[in-house]
Amino acid sequence: MNVFSHPEFDQHEHLSFFCDAETGLKAIVAIHNTSRGPALGGCRMYPYATDEEALRDVLRLSRGMTYKSALANLDLGGGKSVIIGDPRRHKTEGLLEAMGRHLETLGGRYIAAEDSGTSVPDLKVMGRYTRHVAGIAERTGFNGLPSNGDPSPATAYGTFIGLKAAVRHKYGQDDLKGLKVAIQGVGNVGFRLARHLRDAGAELWVYDIHADNMQRAVEQLGAKPATAEDILFLPVDVVAPCALGAVLNDRSIPKLRAGIVAGAANNLLERPEHDALLKQRDILYAPDFAINAGGIIDVFHERTGGRPEQVRAHIETIGDTLTEIFNRSRRTGLPTGEIANELAEERFRKHTAGAGLAPGRLARAG
Ligand code: NAD
Repeated sequence: MNVFSHPEFDQHEHLSFFCDAETGLKAIVAIHNTSRGPALGGCRMYPYATDEEALRDVLRLSRGMTYKSALANLDLGGGKSVIIGDPRRHKTEGLLEAMGRHLETLGGRYIAAEDSGTSVPDLKVMGRYTRHVAGIAERTGFNGLPSNGDPSPATAYGTFIGLKAAVRHKYGQDDLKGLKVAIQGVGNVGFRLARHLRDAGAELWVYDIHADNMQRAVEQLGAKPATAEDILFLPVDVVAPCALGAVLNDRSIPKLRAGIVAGAANNLLERPEHDALLKQRDILYAPDFAINAGGIIDVFHERTGGRPEQVRAHIETIGDTLTEIFNRSRRTGLPTGEIANELAEERFRKHTAGAGLAPGRLARAG
């Protein structure tokens, strides 16, 4: 397994491979860049088939976090961790405690948050041995409601704000009344996004592989049920993928009928060039790492003691960032994903120069 010559290796500052024989913990932490601050990113638990697969994921995801935080103007760097194992079978308190002890050895250069396969309670177990976990504090959330640290409400609100910016840019309207939106995946983020849209008067279609999640959206929000095959291809104004990545690809893009793709799922483009394919079809794509930054913004403020109204205002800057991306894309003819990468690099350089730090090289996020 190559590391320094790995295709996803991008001048990462630090990689740690952790193993604890007693609990079966096998984990990798990747710190991509700390020029803007400590590297904050999720701790993912997944049954990777090979160590190589886990390494690829952690290298790619940690670099993505550098871009996401820079674009959201956060004083944070990019990092991520992966635990190799099936969360339903291998996750034990002992394993999580061992992960906490290992995180502590990094001295706060990396701060872990929840990700797929881990939850707020899991992070709290790690937190018995380290202060360097985030997204676990009980406090008043950005919306004035009690929060247990779960970033999903903030992610959903930021996605709603971003979707509104896309509608304004593409259709020239602020009112969402009667707007037709198809949401793929109505879990923690998708369901809350659906509720914001319903409250704004939008007409909703939903699909989720879990029938009870879909039922909840149908019964509580009056959404119309769609199918796995048609959810992305309905004749709607906006498609909001909020389930899984790589859904924008050679097979799906030619069949899209919506004018906008704006959803919270990470890594929506199967390959970077799908950005240009969307542009060619005149479909406005809200880059995933711009629109879904509400959660990381919320976690950042949890750590720095931001007041609810500050957090809300910061989340709402997602709309301004996207508008800047859309306008530049219109002016230059370049696809929105490419512009988002450029803007993240500009904000990264501006910050590091302003702080008197070496600007640091940033290669392009994939
Ligand atoms: P979640 O697991 O709560 O919800 C995902 C939903 O998608 C589930 O209801 C699941 O049943 C459904 N789903 C899975 N595969 C599907 C498929 N093929 N078709 C339709 N539905 C399917 O996760 P979440 O926290 O809501 O996150 C959703 C997406 O947003 C993920 O890609 C996540 O990485 C991304 N994201 C989440 C946050 C956050 O704060 N939670 C932040 C940034 C990005």
